Amino acid sequence: MIPRSRGLAHVALAVGLTATLGVTLPDAPPAGRAGSAPPRTGFETSHGVRWTTQPEEQDFLAAVGRATSRVRVDRIGATAQGRPLQLVRIGAPAPARPQDVRRGNSVLLVCSQHGDEPAGREACLSTVRDLAYATDRATRRFLAHTSVLVVPTANPDGRAADRRGNSDGTDINRDHLALTTAEARAVAGVLRDYRPGTVYDLHEYGPTAPYYRKDLLTLWPRNLNTSDAVHREATALAEEFVAPAVRKAGFSTGVYGIWTDPRTGDPVKQVAGDGQERILRNAAGVKGAVGLLVETRVDALTDAERADPARNNRRRVDSQRAGLRGAFTFADRHRARIEAATAAARRSGYTDRGPVYLGGADNEPATDAEILAHPPCAYRLDATQFARVGNALALHGVAVRRHGRGADVPLRQPLRTLVPLLLDGRAASPLTSATPVPVCGRGEADNGQGGEPGAGRGAAPPGTR
Ligand SMILES: [Zn+2]
Repeated sequence: MIPRSRGLAHVALAVGLTATLGVTLPDAPPAGRAGSAPPRTGFETSHGVRWTTQPEEQDFLAAVGRATSRVRVDRIGATAQGRPLQLVRIGAPAPARPQDVRRGNSVLLVCSQHGDEPAGREACLSTVRDLAYATDRATRRFLAHTSVLVVPTANPDGRAADRRGNSDGTDINRDHLALTTAEARAVAGVLRDYRPGTVYDLHEYGPTAPYYRKDLLTLWPRNLNTSDAVHREATALAEEFVAPAVRKAGFSTGVYGIWTDPRTGDPVKQVAGDGQERILRNAAGVKGAVGLLVETRVDALTDAERADPARNNRRRVDSQRAGLRGAFTFADRHRARIEAATAAARRSGYTDRGPVYLGGADNEPATDAEILAHPPCAYRLDATQFARVGNALALHGVAVRRHGRGADVPLRQPLRTLVPLLLDGRAASPLTSATPVPVCGRGEADNGQGGEPGAGRGAAPPGTR
């Protein structure tokens, strides 16, 4: 066995998921369909000296796709500078159509939305290859029951320039409501069409010693419109699966956005990680998926890391890979719970009459002004508004009822709580300020039946504020 220590874990090419899934088999070298050698990334062949280039990524994914029926690579968009946005579908066999993806049993990896945070992308690329070539029984069984979807480079223009934003400088991870960028539109289309049960978002962060310096940090959706069951699964993913897998591999872990006292481990202050719905982690939760943000530390903090940048780079990628092993174990062991939680969250959109939260977070109660205690039946868009936001609504998968050149957007639909966040002028980042329709007529959006108790995370029932 190759010990999963910091310095050596990267050496194990394609170790399979045996260790992940709890089966103790020796690590085996992967074998392609025709015995072809599995491709390696530029990062791997350089031993972490440099990041994989985009031409190398294209060759790598093409080679993986040729070698096995487990992988399909599709173009799902193009950036402003003409680079492809791609989706890799993995399964045994690879799902041919969106409807072949297993609801609740699918994991979407969104890798390196920020172009200057490359470790997630490297972990995603090598993981695609490892899943494609793995021969161990645990991985084969996992892929027979699970669809893994990967956007390996979520911000190709930003990666090419080694900068956070895309070519316009827009932060893609603040664009998951407005969908002004090709990059966020591509991800929204995947969420709509494949409806992944788990959405795992790979990032990196700059530490502040001594308060904020763990190797890998996680954070679940804090947005209060995330259903209780989905929120519970997301915290389980973070605390019961990703964190233990990362610690087992020899890395330290913590919660993103929270500084802690280095002596006691107690929280000192919160510096990031709020409930903003335009962030993918939160948007996923609002849409009924188990979202998780993962962040690895960029900077070298030990003498060994400082002395050898390649070693530091490998630590960043290896800790991401360890987190992914935890995520796959979660998808495997919690598959029934994930399916139940995500299906119930979407179903509740038809019956829930509870409040919608325009602000707050799971660790910061919404103010009265941030609570729509009695959400309207629908929002009315005039022709001008609909012309401006109709495309974004369609990409989100929000149902609309056209009238003339405008439209009504009912709340009774799977994405119920998303609708006010998109269309209410009092929300934090609405697309437009549509007109609330308090009560719908017979046969329209509201059929007048009573609703079930609220599925949102807030405590206050409607009418108490
Ligand atoms: Zn980031």
